[in-house]
Amino acid sequence: MKNPDQTNKPEPSSDGALLPYGRQSVTDDDIAAVVSVLQGDWLTTGPAVDAFEAALSEITGAEHVVSCSSGTAALHLALLAAGIGPGDSVIVPANTFLATANTARLVGAEVVFADVDPKSGQMLAEHAEAAFARADRQRIAGVMPVYFAGQCAAPAALASFAGAHGLRIIEDACHALGTSYETGADSHPVGRCDHADMATFSFHPVKTITTGEGGAITTRDADLAEKLRLFRNHGMTRDPAKLANESLAHDPSGDVNPWYYEMAEPGLNYRISDIQCALGASQLKRLPAIVKHRRALVAHYTEKLSALAPVVQPLEVVESCRAAWHLQVVRIDFAAAGLTRAEVMNRLRAQGIGSQVHYIPVPWQPYYKGRYGQTGLPGASAYYDTCLSLPLFESLTFAEVDRVVDTLEAILRGHQV
Ligand SMILES: *Cc1c(COP(=O)(O)O)cnc(C)c1O
Repeated sequence: MKNPDQTNKPEPSSDGALLPYGRQSVTDDDIAAVVSVLQGDWLTTGPAVDAFEAALSEITGAEHVVSCSSGTAALHLALLAAGIGPGDSVIVPANTFLATANTARLVGAEVVFADVDPKSGQMLAEHAEAAFARADRQRIAGVMPVYFAGQCAAPAALASFAGAHGLRIIEDACHALGTSYETGADSHPVGRCDHADMATFSFHPVKTITTGEGGAITTRDADLAEKLRLFRNHGMTRDPAKLANESLAHDPSGDVNPWYYEMAEPGLNYRISDIQCALGASQLKRLPAIVKHRRALVAHYTEKLSALAPVVQPLEVVESCRAAWHLQVVRIDFAAAGLTRAEVMNRLRAQGIGSQVHYIPVPWQPYYKGRYGQTGLPGASAYYDTCLSLPLFESLTFAEVDRVVDTLEAILRGHQV
């Protein structure tokens, strides 16, 4: 990894150089990798896609990797491959990005929102169980744990709950590339799917590595992998063993006609290009360094922020999880500080520091409120009242973290900044 001081500073904006809450880093090696694909024969469905999938497989330990056009497409494909649809319901934590719930609706399933722990923003197995009990008249087919901020709460506990009720587990691991967790003496990388049917990832520019737009699904199940590939590409197959239209498919000598393809179920074009995969594979090469730097930045934040306790608290650390930290979330007692969250965000911004709220509870969105009414989710509500995401990205420096925390301290203490 280049010296973080030298990589890609944000563009100066009208209010000075803004530190956003997240951003990509693109190195000269990344650019060279993309240019070489542009000079080659394959812009899509080519060898760079295979190489990116192989690299993801190596890093996550996943047996099968299916890359696709976004994290949202990954969630949609996973639900389609799992056969979840009309008549089914899936459990989704309230603290997530819209896409986790929306893709369930897009396959025709209903969403049962689960509460989250107010200190970590994570859905625990007990929250999934409570959601399951609350929806006792619905046919619950799956659960979609969200590994919020890069932490993963209790995948093994969730797997035993899901196993007891025959539920599919589709992990929304869009924040958790590079995260691992422990059960006893065993270490499990997120994405190897030791306790899940499928895991989904996003490579949007704010995520841990980027392809511009992009995503992937990992699984241990060869049948699911095959379905994912079919749904990614219109449901089209040329596999001679799968062809149903005997006479259309074959010439009189019994060979498959050279132009021939078939579809058994409609799919989509959710392919990712070789251009994007070249960027992704180049970025993946430095994933260990990126994750190490993110962990060091979060440790530095935590130490510096301890001076602001109890008004500012770190996100609760999930036991047995070694997070790759996508987000630097703090929990702020805004009432104790005598400031609203909007005032704090605006004052940070005036000092060139971006911040964000992850997330507005999805069941509060007008669409879901209209469909399911008010759902009492006290943990998600309490978490939402306090959360604020501060800058965290590959090229962020320790000196910039110091500046962020010092500025936050001055704002919260009511000093002129
Ligand atoms: C980013 C994200 C998604 C969607 O990924 P895209 O690549 O933007 O489509 C889904 N879920 C979570 C939790 C995310 O953070």
